[in-house]
Amino acid sequence: MARYTGAVCRLCRREGQKLFLKGDRCYTDKCSIERRGYAPGMHGNARNKKLSEYGVQLREKQKAKRYYGVLENQFHEYFEMANKRQGMTGENLLSILETRLDNVVYRLGFAMSRAEARQLVRHAHFTVNGRKVNIPSYLVKPGEVIALAENSRSIEKFKGSLEANGSRVIPKWLEMDKNNNVAKVIAVPAREDIDLPIEEHLIVELYSK
Ligand code: SF4
Repeated sequence: MARYTGAVCRLCRREGQKLFLKGDRCYTDKCSIERRGYAPGMHGNARNKKLSEYGVQLREKQKAKRYYGVLENQFHEYFEMANKRQGMTGENLLSILETRLDNVVYRLGFAMSRAEARQLVRHAHFTVNGRKVNIPSYLVKPGEVIALAENSRSIEKFKGSLEANGSRVIPKWLEMDKNNNVAKVIAVPAREDIDLPIEEHLIVELYSK
């Protein structure tokens, strides 16, 4: 699966806000948004750049894609999936993105960023219902149990990550047993469980044009 391999801080600067794509560094004054909080490129520092309605909608979609590390085609597939579900398409879209296995691993505190979580999943460090799953885009469902694989439990890195991320609030649709490195999906994530500043209605408007 293709993925963005450029400098991720540029993505935050383009969106004009922290997307927390780099783990530790995002919380320090080395963060590029702290140092150069304007868009990259020659004209990035130009002021009073007013976006059109389309521009605003586009930026919102780009921001959502970047938070979750998803490329255009897959993001559009998620939108189609969300559109077919009952309820609000925008909320369904965020709910689907939130249930990606790489995001779940990040939410549980096993990784400092979603990019790191994606790599850990790819390296088969996690199981779903007892079977190793190395597909970051795997969508977890209520009732499924996500666990650190047996042979990965002795790896110090995971202990360190869980400790470092100890203050991260685990969303209430996930139930974590930190002592045993196991979590259960207890519900489909609702909009209020997703703490990202995304205005999903703008994405729906964009794709509905
Ligand atoms: Fe974004 Fe993190 Fe880079 Fe800051 S350090 S610009 S939050 S990826």
